[in-house]
Amino acid sequence: MKSNPNAKVIFMVGAGISTSCGIPDFRSPGTGLYHNLARLKLPYPEAVFDVDFFQSDPLPFYTLAKELYPGNFRPSKFHYLLKLFQDKDVLKRVYTQNIDTLERQAGVKDDLIIEAHGSFAHCHCIGCGKVYPPQVFKSKLAEHPMKDFVKCDVCGELVKPAIVFFGEDLPDSFSETWLNDSEWLREKITTSGKHPQQPLVIVVGTSLAVYPFASLPEEIPRKVKRVLCNLETVGDFKANKRPTDLIVHQYSDEFAEQLVEELGWQEDFEKILTAQGGMGDNSKEQLLEIVHDLENLSLDQSEHESADKKDKKLQRLNGHDSDEDGASNSSSSQKAAKE
Ligand SMILES: [Zn+2]
Repeated sequence: MKSNPNAKVIFMVGAGISTSCGIPDFRSPGTGLYHNLARLKLPYPEAVFDVDFFQSDPLPFYTLAKELYPGNFRPSKFHYLLKLFQDKDVLKRVYTQNIDTLERQAGVKDDLIIEAHGSFAHCHCIGCGKVYPPQVFKSKLAEHPMKDFVKCDVCGELVKPAIVFFGEDLPDSFSETWLNDSEWLREKITTSGKHPQQPLVIVVGTSLAVYPFASLPEEIPRKVKRVLCNLETVGDFKANKRPTDLIVHQYSDEFAEQLVEELGWQEDFEKILTAQGGMGDNSKEQLLEIVHDLENLSLDQSEHESADKKDKKLQRLNGHDSDEDGASNSSSSQKAAKE
């Protein structure tokens, strides 16, 4: 980037960039949300993100949503790095698998973010699709105890945030924007000529296990340089490593600091961090609170569900088994190896 200061960057990010904010990693053994949900009375842990289960019992998702709702967490250094790149006019796009909206909270503009797995920013009816403002859902979360849920005034079905559940399609903006951006990448390479403005794609904090997001890196044109910052080499970087790939085994916040230093942008970065009141109080206790709340739910559902139906659901979940991703970049892991 130093030799190529006008080059724009596309980021592809996962849960690893948010673990330092105290947001539970949905996958890591021991710290992952599913692991902790497994000992609860849900018929199976992923049920909390299953539309059919939500329809029969919305309470677990409401409880989880209350904890994860935007505003409860603060962005990490890496999120503010995205803002810095935007300020320097070198940010082309951020593709995120996270539903925590911390990219927005860090100040990244709406048109530069693609929330591949949706967000709390919109709500819709699971029956007829009628769109509702997020407030209708959020207002319910404040009630104690939560018992009546948001219902559609047209068809009476439940209303839920536009977070992508298992078996649901990704937002149209995901594939549409990626189509345009990959075209842009191809154009940039062919027109870079004498004054190279070669674009860069940086993949951070994701285990690249959840499709279709995980297929993005292999769709990057071969002449575009790819960077992976993750505690482990994953996905297409492992399966089809390219000679030009740069792989960094590092935590995303450390990676952000190093990039800022190498680019000589420390002063501007400090300004952003100071303006935001410094870093958040990164507490792992929030995960325990979530688990505690879920433990106190009465989930009669599990007794009524036949084993047959469970099997079917688990099959369907195969290959699309998490709303969040990035297990291998968990802050609890001891595998960090700096390069
Ligand atoms: Zn409806």
